[in-house]
Parts: sequence; C-alpha cells; structure tokens
Amino acid sequence: MKTFPMFLTMTDRDVVIAGGGEQAAQKARLVLKTEARITLLAEELDDELAALVAEGRATHRTGAISANDFAGAALVFICTGNPARDEMLHKLAKQAGVVVNVVDRPELCDAITPSIVDRDPVVVAIGTEGTAPVLARQIKTQIETMLEPRLGAFAALAGRMRDAVAARVPQSERRAFWRWVFNDGPRQLHATGAERDAAALLKQAITAGAAPGQDRHGLISLVGAGPGARDLLTLRAVQRLQEADIIFYDRLVDPEVLELARRDAERVFVGKAVGACAWPQERIDAVVVAAAKQGKRVVRLKSGDPGVFGRAGEELAAARTEGLTVEIVPGVTAATAAGAAIGQSMTERGQTDRLLFATGTCRPGDDAPDWGASLQPGTTLALYMGVRQAGEISANLIGAGLPGECPVDIVCAVSKPEQRHVTATLATLEAVIVAEAVQNPAILLIRRPKHMVESLPEIATPGLRAAI
Ligand code: SAH
Repeated sequence: MKTFPMFLTMTDRDVVIAGGGEQAAQKARLVLKTEARITLLAEELDDELAALVAEGRATHRTGAISANDFAGAALVFICTGNPARDEMLHKLAKQAGVVVNVVDRPELCDAITPSIVDRDPVVVAIGTEGTAPVLARQIKTQIETMLEPRLGAFAALAGRMRDAVAARVPQSERRAFWRWVFNDGPRQLHATGAERDAAALLKQAITAGAAPGQDRHGLISLVGAGPGARDLLTLRAVQRLQEADIIFYDRLVDPEVLELARRDAERVFVGKAVGACAWPQERIDAVVVAAAKQGKRVVRLKSGDPGVFGRAGEELAAARTEGLTVEIVPGVTAATAAGAAIGQSMTERGQTDRLLFATGTCRPGDDAPDWGASLQPGTTLALYMGVRQAGEISANLIGAGLPGECPVDIVCAVSKPEQRHVTATLATLEAVIVAEAVQNPAILLIRRPKHMVESLPEIATPGLRAAI
C-alpha cells in the first residue's frame, strides 16, 4: 500500500479550497458532508460556491495568498484550473506543513480522495491509488446495491442503543446479540421502512437481555477454504469467516483466505507439519469443542472441501457428542480445481464416465489401497496425497493391466501463484516427478479413457479380460 486509508475527524477543523470553479465546487460538496469549516480562496466564485458563502456554509477570501492562509488546515485542496498557479500554491501549502491534494496532479498529492459510498455514519471508501478509477466506480456501484439506502439511519439507531445493550446483555452474548441485530429481524424490518417496528423489536430484546431464540452455545462451521485463491471460496464460507470469533486453520490454508476474516477474530494454527503431528487430531477436536462451549462462533477452516480427505468425520463426531451444533460449508476440492486450472473437464462424454477421488496415503498400518482394481476403462482418477507414493501407485496400476501410456496430469499448488502443471504417462510418472522436483501439494489426474482398451495389444490375464 502506497497510501494508508484513514478516516479523519473533521469536527471543528478547517478545510481550505483554493479555486472558485467547478472542481472547487466538487471538493466543497464532499467536504460539506462533514462538519469541517470551509474556506474558499479565489478571486471569483461560481454561482454554486457563491450561494454556499451566502448561506454561511463557507467563508470566502480574495487577494494575495500566503502560507498563512493554509496554516492549521486539516486538508487543503488546490484546483484553480491554472497548472502553474496550482504548483505555486502547492509550495505555499507545503511551507505551512499541511496535507494537500492538488486536483489531477497525483505527483503533488499527500492524500487522494476515494470513491465513497455514503450511508452516514456508515461510510465505505474505495481507492485504487490512482491505477483504475473506473474500477473504483464499478466497485462503488456494487457496494451501493449491497447496502440498503436506510442503513445509515439503522446504524445510528444501533449506535444510540450501545450503552443499553452493554448494560443489559451479558458480555459473552453481546457479539451474538449484535449479529442478530444486523443480520436478522431489526435490520430487515428497518430496511423495508418499518423503522418504528425495528426500534421496538430491538428495545424489546434489550429489555429481555437476549435476542429472541438465541442459542447459548456457539456454532461450529467446518468451512472449505478451497485450493488457495481467495476468490474460490463460496459466499457462505466468506460469511462464516466474517462472523467467526475464532478460526482454527490448517497448514494448506492460504494466508490470502484468512484475510477475509474479521480483523479481531482469533486465529489458531492447528496444522500438521509434513510427516509429523504437531497437533494430534484429538487435540484439535478438543480445542474446537471447548471454544464452541464458551459460546464462540467457531470456524474450522480446512483446505479444499472439508468432507474430502479432511478428517471432518472425527470433528463432526466430537461436536455432536457434546450436543453442539455443527455444519459443513462445502468448498472447491483440489481435484476439480486442478481440472479447471489446466482447462480440462474431469469427465469426457464417451471417454470417461466415472470420476474417482482417492488418496495415495493411508493411515500407518493400513493396507495400501488397490487403485488398479477400481480403475476400469472410462475412469478419471484424482489422486490426493499421491506424490510420494507415485512409484508404488503406477506399479499397482500397470500391474492391474492399465496401459503405461495412460496420460497423467500433475497439478501442483493449484490456484496459488506458484501453480505448476507437469505431464507424464503412467509409465514415466515416477521419473517425471523426480526430474521435475514436483512438490506437495499436488494432485495427480490419471485418465484411463475407454478408447485405450481397443489399442491394448494383448490382455494379460483372463481376470482382466473379464473386467474390461
Ligand atoms: N480437503 C482437501 C484435501 C486435503 S488432503 C480438498 O478437498 O482439496 C491434502 C491433499 O490435497 C494434498 O496432499 C494434495 O494432494 C491436495 N491439495 C490440497 N490443496 C492443493 C492445491 N492447492 N493444489 C494441489 N493439490 C492440493
């Protein structure tokens, strides 16, 4: 960030605008939204600015300008319409040591004005550091449609009730209370114009000391974080992140995704180092359950989809044993994201009509899965955690009669900046992984199309012939 976003207090402060034309009027309109005093430095004012002065909402000064005219101002806008004069005034303002914005001269600006969505006291400021004003406007339009026009009045009402809520609603339930205020009844009523009903509902809940039907226990959400890129999260996942009091996240969860959470949400890393278990599963289950029992909104953030090789079953069981409410928010799993990343469909009509998700790594002590047995012609096998076992896997598959020329796509770090795509065949898989120094996380997409069956020279065993 080259510029730092910040809301300036404007009550009882001075804003100086040097200029008297349309550009000056634009800045004056912005500043008029605040409680600042406006001083206009110009020989002549256009009709709009002259009217402001006549109404007593701005002061007008003419004559020679010195650094003194800018001294002590919270902000100075310079827009005389004359570039040489703008530069000269900029120097004077800098002598006075104030924060200056010279209109249309980014190189002379200490501060730039953002695009604003105004639901006073709720204000959204959007900046692109001058790189893309059109984008800023598009974002503004999107946010304008998201925030109902009466939102400001509702926020102000909520603000007036803060002390009463603090007095009546126990602290442990306050966040949940405000969540109800802004998500449910009161805000919705207010948005439809039923402002009095909204206020009455809010006051009733304050008197009762709790939102109607509020659950005393927190909710546990097992949330799919997708493969990495934050725009591959679902809207529901983002919503849960923004509501969470505490987030337990894994090693494979991208830091980008965590930025979507509320700033003051607690973040706890419960990742397992490769090959080691810094956080045994039982300990994760226990801390997640304990947080929910304290009434917190808990997000258990897991890479991809929580229900795919994510040990979600154990976490669901731990929560249910304690009678806690637990939900799964699905995510984009690495396999389908890998297909998307390389621009290929996971299934192909007439070629592959089965899709298998399998893991290359099992619990220590368990038998290795017989991947070959399930890979009938017409199958795409998406193999998770398969890089280290690649040699064993390809031997197993070829042993089961799969053609060595079956194509394999190795897709690493899907959707992350370091994403890589390496191609191999079943026969070359292990050698390619070594030669290309393929790193985890990676997905192996192994295809056994139907048409390859015909090109098979001799079928090795009668058992295999029957399978085909
Ligand atoms: N629940 C996750 C899978 C967790 S198991 C999901 O649905 O995606 C961990 C394995 O997932 C890794 O070993 C790797 O095979 C795969 N994986 C996870 N993220 C990945 C990514 N960004 N790129 C490629 N593979 C990934």
